[in-house]
Amino acid sequence: MKLIKPHGGKLVNREVAGLERDALIEASAAMARLELSPRAISDLEMIAIGAYSPLEGFMGEADYHAVVSGMKLANGDAWSIPVTLPVSTEQAERLPKGTDVALYQADHLLGVLHLREKFTYDKQVEAQLVYRTIEDAHPGVRVLYDQGDCLLGGRISLLNRPRDLSFTQYRRDPAQTRAYFRERGWRRVVAFQTRNPVHRAHEYIQKCALEIADGLLLHPIVGETKSDDVPAEVRIRSYEEILRHYYPAGRTVLSVLPAAMRYAGPREAIFHALIRKNYGCSHFIVGRDHAGVGNYYGTYDAHHIFDEFEPAELGITPLFFDHTFYCRACDGMASSKTCPHEPKDRVTLSGTRVREMLGAGELPPLEFSRPEVARLLIEAYQRLEAGLAGAAA
Ligand SMILES: [Zn+2]
Repeated sequence: MKLIKPHGGKLVNREVAGLERDALIEASAAMARLELSPRAISDLEMIAIGAYSPLEGFMGEADYHAVVSGMKLANGDAWSIPVTLPVSTEQAERLPKGTDVALYQADHLLGVLHLREKFTYDKQVEAQLVYRTIEDAHPGVRVLYDQGDCLLGGRISLLNRPRDLSFTQYRRDPAQTRAYFRERGWRRVVAFQTRNPVHRAHEYIQKCALEIADGLLLHPIVGETKSDDVPAEVRIRSYEEILRHYYPAGRTVLSVLPAAMRYAGPREAIFHALIRKNYGCSHFIVGRDHAGVGNYYGTYDAHHIFDEFEPAELGITPLFFDHTFYCRACDGMASSKTCPHEPKDRVTLSGTRVREMLGAGELPPLEFSRPEVARLLIEAYQRLEAGLAGAAA
């Protein structure tokens, strides 16, 4: 048995090297320039390293419409989130189709877009179908409404990685995680997506999954997130602590995912699963309200959406988890699926209550959070309160 195949069958690599790279860098001086947003920079890198296989560039019109309306690429492969390069109408007018466009992060050359298509699109239709709401209070919809009115499509070539990359020691491309899994003889690998610190409930879910897998990929998102999510530096330190004290080193690997959060809930759960398939994972944990925000999605919508696909269309196997907690009567971690007891026996705390406790320098109960993690969060919340948030965020 081998590792799972990438989505579409082949791991895309659009990072060019050697003479081809030299030639494109030289030619880029004469190309039209386009400065990318943080979201587009992240997408460019994700495409180039194969994390978005089979995508080789920003979507053209046929793929865009097939994805928005039917969660498929034009060739029929499952795909749930549009990956687009928006620009203003004025910018689009000065970029001729059939030419190469140099892509920049400020004054840093990142790569080249081989521009094939320019098209307009209906933002409200995309909002309704992808995010299930047209309200601009939704952070993903807000980004969509604020972006340009024209989309550029075409393959990309990556010449240089983005500048100022954080957590370089934890950055592994799909080819590298695949090599890591192979070296360790892991074939069934379960991925856990997160943008939050790991409390006991998540630790329990991860370990339940690890009982039936060879290895666990703890894969936090460090691309753009909402400003009120816990800062990535704090989260990474909390993962290091919990892994050091409570996880077997030979079965667990921490790696960061440079993707931007969309907060598209169910559709993003599919997207996150396909991305992890490209990283070599056979199983993907989907908790309650995966990638949700506010009250836009039902608690189990991110589970139900998997029923809209045949298992072979996705390839990666979702593992669905319910709300988990410590139960004093069970004397252990459990979930509403496995514990028959009353709410009074269960140690549950709302997110608001946890933040209050941490902000007040109070350790949550041991049954809720490991003290090594809680102490880091207390420090972080106290720094935030002291008004030093800017430096940490
Ligand atoms: Zn119980």
